[in-house]
Order: sequence, then structure tokens, then C-alpha cells
Amino acid sequence: MTTSVDLVVIGGGPAGCAAAVMATSVGMTVTLVDPGFQLGGALWRIPTIQNVLGGHSTGPDLAKAIIADVDRTHATVIQATAQAIHPSDQDVTVDLADGTMIVGRHAVIATGVRPAQPDDVDWLFAAAGTVLTPLWAADPAYADGATWQVLGADRPLGTFLRAHPDLDVRFEVLYPPADEYKTHEVRDDARVTLTRVERHSLDPDVASRSVDPGKAMIFANLGVMPATIQGTQPADDGYCPPDAQHARIHIGGDLRSARGQRIQTAMGSGAEAALSAYYASRRIT
Ligand SMILES: Cc1cc2nc3c(=O)[nH]c(=O)nc-3n(C[C@H](O)[C@H](O)[C@H](O)COP(=O)(O)OP(=O)(O)OC[C@H]3O[C@@H](n4cnc5c(N)ncnc54)[C@H](O)[C@@H]3O)c2cc1C
Repeated sequence: MTTSVDLVVIGGGPAGCAAAVMATSVGMTVTLVDPGFQLGGALWRIPTIQNVLGGHSTGPDLAKAIIADVDRTHATVIQATAQAIHPSDQDVTVDLADGTMIVGRHAVIATGVRPAQPDDVDWLFAAAGTVLTPLWAADPAYADGATWQVLGADRPLGTFLRAHPDLDVRFEVLYPPADEYKTHEVRDDARVTLTRVERHSLDPDVASRSVDPGKAMIFANLGVMPATIQGTQPADDGYCPPDAQHARIHIGGDLRSARGQRIQTAMGSGAEAALSAYYASRRIT
């Protein structure tokens, strides 16, 4: 099946949703593609937010409001994974994982980031392809009285501790020197033991038990990697600078760079990406 629209938006987090809302507001036809069973992206993982205008104090609350905003538009939402994008002088063709394609005049790509895994970092040694449960997916229902090992000192650790101030959990955190500056946020919490390591080898048995969030005792907190798709023009670090892309591909949200990865910047840049597509399609410079 191939459909043709003014704008294909890939990724339904805050950036992609903002792009869809902005594009429909200026009269563009939009198809929004996201594999999740509901839109909102990383917002569903944020138990408390303090830096977003509008009065929402948790990520899920904001996600529900954004979904309602998208529902009020004429955007078509497709639950699918985009695998590749092929831009040409006339249009863009997006290949979906189920073998279908979508054709649009322009595309906004807002696929954000994914949790880094042992293969992505140089200080952890594990069997190739080892996948650990990310700390943001840890279920506090299993935490009471538990001791969990955390690999890496990225921000989700502080978020988890702030969201569950009374939880009786112990975190043994192994982190590389490069994460030193991130430890200040959790250093004073008595539930945390911080151990700086140059390198660490993962026990394969322990790692294999980490796939199920209910049974995991060890969690990845290694930062994030850009979730780009084939057909974009990534920089050396894997992120996709908006200025380096084909004229019909517009990038929004966390995928732009490792810096500025926040909800409001995602929404602003997603809306801006949609307007770039609109101006280009009207040849307005
Ligand atoms: C634990 C945690 C706490 C955070 N706390 C805060 C905070 O307090 N304040 C703040 O401002 N920011 C916070 N952030 C950051 C914030 O969530 C992100 O900056 C923001 O969600 C980025 O929006 P985005 O739309 O670019 O990407 P995302 O929200 O990551 O959305 C990307 C979407 O793209 C989809 N996608 C991925 N690949 C494909 C594909 N191939 N095809 C189709 N769709 C695809 C995904 O399913 C997802 O829905 C936090 C993030 C995390 C993980």
C-alpha cells in the first residue's frame, strides 16, 4: 500500500506530535508513524517533570494531553516502524517494517534516542548482543528491600530516586570516569553506593536474567544512542544535524544532537521542522 501526503512524520514523541499539530494547523496532510501502542515517546518514562510549561507534573500526564491534541487534528496515525527513507527531487518514500511504503512531499524525522547497551560503550565487556533492562524501565514494585546493580550514572538514576523517596532500595552503581560529573545528583542519597571503574566484565548469567524487568537485578544506565533510520545523514556521533540533511528531510527533537535533549526543545524543534517543510513546499524562503 502506498499513500501520498504532504508530510510524513516519523516518531510520535513530543517532537513528532508537535510537528504533526503544527503541520495540520497550516493545512498540510500528515501521516504520523510510531511503533508504540500509544503516542508520547519517552514521556511515558518520566515520573516527575519540573521544567515544562503548562502545569503537567508527570510525563504520562503530558503524554495524555499531547495525544488529545493530536486526536483533534486530521493527522493519520499509523502504528509501524520506519526502516528507511529515500528522498528524491520530487518526494520522499518511507519503507515500513511490514513491507509497505508511504510517500510524502516532505518528512520530519523525530525518532529520538534509544537506551545505550553494553555493545555501545567501551568500558563494559559482555557477550556480543547482550541486552540489559534500562533503569528507566525498572519497576519500583520489585525494588522494596532489593539491592540492584546499576551500570552507568546517567540521569534516570536521579529521576528514579526523586520519584521514590521512601523506597527501601539499594543501588550499587558502577560508573566510568566520564560519568563522574553526573554522580553529584545522587551522591548524597544514602541508598546509593558509587564505585568508579575503568572497565567492568559482565557475568553472562547475571546479564541473561536482566531481560525481564520483574526479575532483573542489574540495569543499564549507560546513556542514550541516536535512533536514526537509514537514509538520513548522520554526523560522526550518529546524531542527525538538521542542516546536513536532504532538502526534503527535516529533523526534530532529541535526534538532532546530544545537547538540548529536553521536552520543550523537542516540541519547539518538531514544530519548526514542520514549518520548514511547509515553507519549502510553498517555495517560501
Ligand atoms: C527517564 C527520562 C527522564 C527525563 N526527564 C526529563 C525531564 O524531566 N525534563 C525534560 O525536559 N526532559 C526529560 N527527558 C528527556 C525528554 O523525554 C526528551 O528530550 C523528549 O522526549 C524527546 O522527544 P523526541 O520526540 O525527540 O523523542 P522521544 O520522546 O524519544 O520519541 C521518539 C519516538 O520515536 C519513535 N520511534 C523510534 N524509532 C522509530 C522508527 N524507526 N519508526 C517510527 N517511530 C520510531 C519512538 O517509538 C518514540 O515514540 C527525560 C528522558 C528520560 C528517558
